[in-house]
Amino acid sequence: MKAEAIVVGGGPAGLIAARELASRGVEVKAYEEHTVIGEPNHCAGILSVEGLARLDVKPSPEFIQHEVRGGVAYSPDGTPIRITGSRTRAYIVDRAAFDRHLAGQAEDAGAELILGHRVRELLVEENRVAGVLGNDGPVDAEVVIDCEGTAGFLARSVGLGPPERGVLSGINTEVSGVEVEPGMVEVWLGEDVAPGFFAWVAPMGDDSARCGLACESSDAKVLLEKFLEKRFGETEHTIPVRWPVLKGGPVAKTYGEGLLLVGDVAGQTKPTTGGGVIFGGLCAVEAAKTVCSALKADDCSAEYLSRYETAWEELLGREFSSMLAARRFADGISDDRKDRLFGSLKSSGLEGTLERLVEEGDMDMQSGVLRSALTHPGMIGVLVSSLGRLALAELRGLFNL
Ligand SMILES: Cc1cc2nc3c(=O)[nH]c(=O)nc-3n(C[C@H](O)[C@H](O)[C@H](O)COP(=O)(O)OP(=O)(O)OC[C@H]3O[C@@H](n4cnc5c(N)ncnc54)[C@H](O)[C@@H]3O)c2cc1C
Repeated sequence: MKAEAIVVGGGPAGLIAARELASRGVEVKAYEEHTVIGEPNHCAGILSVEGLARLDVKPSPEFIQHEVRGGVAYSPDGTPIRITGSRTRAYIVDRAAFDRHLAGQAEDAGAELILGHRVRELLVEENRVAGVLGNDGPVDAEVVIDCEGTAGFLARSVGLGPPERGVLSGINTEVSGVEVEPGMVEVWLGEDVAPGFFAWVAPMGDDSARCGLACESSDAKVLLEKFLEKRFGETEHTIPVRWPVLKGGPVAKTYGEGLLLVGDVAGQTKPTTGGGVIFGGLCAVEAAKTVCSALKADDCSAEYLSRYETAWEELLGREFSSMLAARRFADGISDDRKDRLFGSLKSSGLEGTLERLVEEGDMDMQSGVLRSALTHPGMIGVLVSSLGRLALAELRGLFNL
């Protein structure tokens, strides 16, 4: 058997890569090990309005469960900072339905999706990836796009990815019969809540929500139970699903001979929030563009395919480095200092300024809003009073300001 291009993995990165390849006339087979697309679902499902537009996905009741216009962040001592927008900023989506929507787009474009089929190995001939070994034996291809997600067995077998630093324990569940504010996502900080990251509440209506957390501890389940108790008291919730959340940024190399890495396996998630659907999808589009031109040039060498890395770095490199800087900084400040920062923001009346900066900013391309905050005179004052001049200088240094 043979295909021009093979995609491994039927998550968002793989499905968008398959859609983009097929819509450019490439004969593509996409393999997904599960028999149903989108299951098991581990995701909070928070996707920005701009992100969906960038991925060419029209919002549809097929997968949208709720609209988000703002959020409340809680400091470790429980001080809230509220940011309300005047428009819908994001959607809470049912990820399984969203992924099935992407699968429909890929099939409509002409991609062949092969479900219930695990790719066991990458076929390597003369030091280049020349196809895959699946359930039915070898399948040759000019190029393989690896979108296998965080586990990264295939990538590892050829000395690439997957991410090793910044891999957190993530966990997610759905609660019902609770009181939540519609349209407002909650973020809870604190070493007791979620060391090294945060817990979230993503409303799905006024009495149900998707809740979860990511943390550097292995006790994610215990921490989640504690968080649910603290936030809601006794709750009815679905069995929590555990899965790694990535905050360490892209891996060092995302291409090889006849091979590209896209999505979680390449670490293409936002270090600030762990969200990977939009950035993985954008990188999948770049991968498909590179593969098309490589096939036309009859050159799927690593040298040619390195254009993919150049392309995604041009698009997202600045975003990744800004968000990594913000993440490193947030990880380095203690709960006490976070409490002081939240307290100063409130007492100096800067919540409105923050709200305006966020309103004007982009949920995915966060470098703009991060830079605006770090150059705003009022914000600089708050950062100095709560964190000290040295910390501010360090933070501005991380952003080359
Ligand atoms: C708790 C949690 C909450 C999250 N919340 C959000 C959020 O709100 N917003 C957001 O944008 N992101 C969120 N993310 C991150 C998001 O889920 C991932 O970034 C995204 O799913 C990555 O897409 P992917 O296609 O790269 O990988 P995946 O979605 O993991 O898909 C990989 C697919 O490949 C298949 N596969 C693997 N190996 C093989 C093989 N050998 N053969 C065939 N198939 C294979 C897998 O079964 C899987 O279906 C969250 C993650 C976690 C853990």
